[in-house]
Parts: sequence; C-alpha cells; structure tokens
Amino acid sequence: MTTHLDLPMLPNVADFISRPHASFIDGREGAPDGEAIDSIDPSSGATITTVEAASAATVDRAVRSAHAAFVGSWSTMSPPARERVLHRLADLLEQYATELAQYDALESGKPAAFVEAVDVALAVEQFRYYAGWPTKLQGATIAVPDVTNHVYTRREPLGVVVAITPWNFPLCQAAIKLAPALAAGNTIVLKPSEMTSLSSLRLAELAIEAGMPPGVLNVVTGPGNPTGAALTSHPLVHSITFTGSEQVGRELGRSAGGALKHASLELGGKNPHIIFADADIEAATASAATTAFFYSGQVCFAGSRLLVERSALDQVMAGLESYAGQLVLGAGLDPASTMGPLSSERQREKVERYLNGAGGRVAFGGSRPGGALADGYFLEPTAVVDAGDQDAVVTDEIFGPVVVVQPFDDVDEVVLRANTTDLGLTAGVWTQDLRRAHDVSARLQAGTIWVNTYGSFNAAAPWGGYKSSGLGRDCGPEGLDKYLQTKTVWMGL
Ligand code: NAD
Repeated sequence: MTTHLDLPMLPNVADFISRPHASFIDGREGAPDGEAIDSIDPSSGATITTVEAASAATVDRAVRSAHAAFVGSWSTMSPPARERVLHRLADLLEQYATELAQYDALESGKPAAFVEAVDVALAVEQFRYYAGWPTKLQGATIAVPDVTNHVYTRREPLGVVVAITPWNFPLCQAAIKLAPALAAGNTIVLKPSEMTSLSSLRLAELAIEAGMPPGVLNVVTGPGNPTGAALTSHPLVHSITFTGSEQVGRELGRSAGGALKHASLELGGKNPHIIFADADIEAATASAATTAFFYSGQVCFAGSRLLVERSALDQVMAGLESYAGQLVLGAGLDPASTMGPLSSERQREKVERYLNGAGGRVAFGGSRPGGALADGYFLEPTAVVDAGDQDAVVTDEIFGPVVVVQPFDDVDEVVLRANTTDLGLTAGVWTQDLRRAHDVSARLQAGTIWVNTYGSFNAAAPWGGYKSSGLGRDCGPEGLDKYLQTKTVWMGL
C-alpha cells in the first residue's frame, strides 16, 4: 500500500510531521497538552501526526495573549510598519510555497501541485492586497449644524478576532481571514479544522519570522467542541469570522448574536452552472467538468448543479464523461494525481447516501476504486441525471465529486429553477448573447456570478453568499470593513 507518508516530501515537511503538535501561543508552539487528535492521511487512513485538542485553559491563554498584543504592540504599530510585516509574510509564503502546499496535500489529499498553484498563490495574494491598506484607512470630518463643534470619525480595529476555518482550504482560508483583520490592526486567534492544522501552525511560525510581534497571531488546535466553542464564547473575543458548513454557521450565528459579538459567516453552496445552447459548448463543458471535480468536488463554489439547454445536453454529457475518464485518482503527494480522495470515510459514506435514494440515477462513476487506492477514501467522479428540482441531490451541498445534470428549455424557466435552492454562493452562465448574460446575472440569487468563465477569485473582489450561504463578505474593501469599527469624536472649539 502506498501512502502519502511513503512519497517523496521536503525534509522540512518530514521533520514537521515527525513530532506531535500543539497550539501556537505568544510566538511559539508549546508542549502538547490534553488529548491528542490524529491527523489522518485520507488517501490511506494512516496517521500523519497528532495535534492537541486545546483545552479551555489553553484557549484562554491564547485569547489573553492576543488581547495583550492588541493593547501592547499591534494596534499602535505605525501603519507603514504593519504593511512591511504583511509584505514580508507574503514573501515568506512564496519562499516556502512548496512546503506549505505539502502540508495541505498530506492532510486533505488534494494534489500538492494544485495546492501550490491555487491555494498558496491565493494566500500570498491576500497578504499582498491587504498589506496595501493600513496606510489608506481614513475617517471623515462631519458637517454638523453647530459650527462650534469639530466632528470627525476614526476607523479603529475591534480587538481580538477569532478566525475559524474549514478543512478544505486550510492555508488559503486562514489568509483570507488573517490578512484583512491584521491590516485593520486586530490580533487573532485562529482555529483551523482539526483535520488540517499543520499549515496554520507553520504560517504562525512564518509570521514571527516576518516580524509580527508574539501574540498577534495565535493558533489553537482542536475540534469544534470544546475548543472552538470555548474560543467563540470567550469574553475577550469581540469578533468571529467563520468559514465552514451551514449547520455550524447557524450555531455560531446564534451564539454570537446572543453575546453581541460581530460575526461573519461564509457557508456552503449548491451552485447552478447554466449552459445555454448558443455558448462555446466545448469551453463550457471543459469548465463545467473542471469545477465539478476539482478537489473531488469538496469546494464551496463547485459547479455541482449543471443546467444545460436541452439541445446541448448530449454533447455536454459526453464531454463530462470523457473528462472524468482522464482524471488520475491518487494521493496528494503523488505527482501523477489529478484528483484526491474525500476527506474522511464518514464524508464518503455521506456522498454515497446521496447517490442511493436522494433522487436521480448515476449516469457514470459512483464507485469506490480498488487496487492501490482501496484503503483511501476515494470515489470515482460521478454524474447524476433524471433528478427532480426538489430532490436532495439537487438541493443539498453534497461536497463530493458529484455533478447533477439537468436539462432546461428556456431562460425564465432556468432562472426560476436555479434560484429554488436555499443556498446562494455562486452561479455560472455560458452564453454568447450579451443581453442575456447581463439579464441572467442580475436575476440569479448568488454572491458571485461567473459569465463565460468559472471559479475566478481575487483578493480585491468581494466574496460571500446570498441567502443561507452566509452573512458578510470576504475580500476587497468590504472584507476589510468588517474588521473595523467607527468612532465619532465631537470636539468643542
Ligand atoms: P465545518 O462547519 O464542519 O467546520 C468548520 C470549522 O468550524 C472547523 O474548524 C471546525 O472545527 C469548526 N467548528 C465546528 N463546530 C464548531 C463549534 N460549535 N464552535 C466553533 N467552531 C466549530 O466545515 P468543514 O467540513 O470543515 O468545511 C466544509 C464546509 O465549509 C462546506 O460546507 C463548504 O461549503 C464550506 N466552505 C465555504 C467557503 C466559502 O467561502 N463560503 C469556503 C470553504 C468552505
């Protein structure tokens, strides 16, 4: 049996995984305390290393460290100095890109070359983009009727921000949260998913190397409960930024509301990807196949619901099947792999339940590969057809290599059907008719619409969900705004 652990990896990575890990507080990783959680290689089920399940006492130390750093060094550091630290961190992420990609590949099963080209590059981009902001934060002067007053506003950080990230984009999601929050002058306690902690711990080391004062970025490892819950309910925490499932997002939203903490929630998606018959069908099909199976479909913006104008259906289905047949399933560190496993056996079983009895029928794929991959949590790339709009396979985020393909006959019908699910993260539209492209983009209920392309992402472009896909925005100026509060100063002249 070949596992990630047998494949060639950088010496730094081999060294890092050779020891058990613990939370990173006040500038260093401590000795593991409390229960050890196995970090699992999903391509084989083997244990990579362990991370601690941080206790409430460890969480308290991390928050107090971040609070002290907020009061002490970070919020008062000059804006140009803060910018330099963030740029240096971006430089270090570039320098160690291959190493960082290997941690995420090991723990998530995603192909390492893709992680380096996509996730690490996006993380670098976040730090570079937001490094430009500290010197551009501005308040305003306010014209009030009584001219004996001088009234102005200041834009100030919130304090300690808790960032909770999902397993599927560990480094990249950490960067999406950290870069704007730090640029705004906040300090952080980051809790990565218990399944993928390693790149976040390494990121914290690199932040220190970049000149970030100890305590500005702390990382606590451990599960949602009790570690995450202890973190989000801590009285010194004023803001929570979360990316993950709708279910956990709702729970966090409720508790943050009760405690009057700021909360932004980036949640799941079931994204309609619409191909009109007048589109460049070859390009649309290639894009549809890529986005359906990229990272085994374990992507919030996966184009997992493909709506195809009836006359183009056969051509699109043939293209999808041909693309799926060329994918090479394998471990994340295997250079030949173009599609990894699912994150866990539990997740694979969940996906299989959707394939058996949640609507429609499997047109291709749907099986577990055997041979050298039998011990991993692999599932073949799969298409489901003949599903009704109310079937769970159409309405739910499956989070697996499963694309549900449905025909449609006209534009009003497809817009109505695309909007029927409760989720609204992204949508795609393929057509050569400019008027229709703008019309449909305006009518689709989703936070991002891609026209004649799919999956583009940039730190400057706001990102977030409509409806149950979330509250608030990451990226761009809006992504910064949520980590700032406005103070109004009245001065009698
Ligand atoms: P998850 O909700 O299970 O876990 C996310 C994080 O929340 C983890 O760190 C987990 O430990 C933590 N957590 C769980 N319960 C908690 C609690 N009670 N208190 C505090 N923290 C808690 O999600 P996941 O399986 O890691 O990630 C997949 C989900 O993330 C999918 O739904 C996907 O669509 C979504 N996602 C969304 C985006 C986006 O930009 N909208 C991006 C990536 C992933």
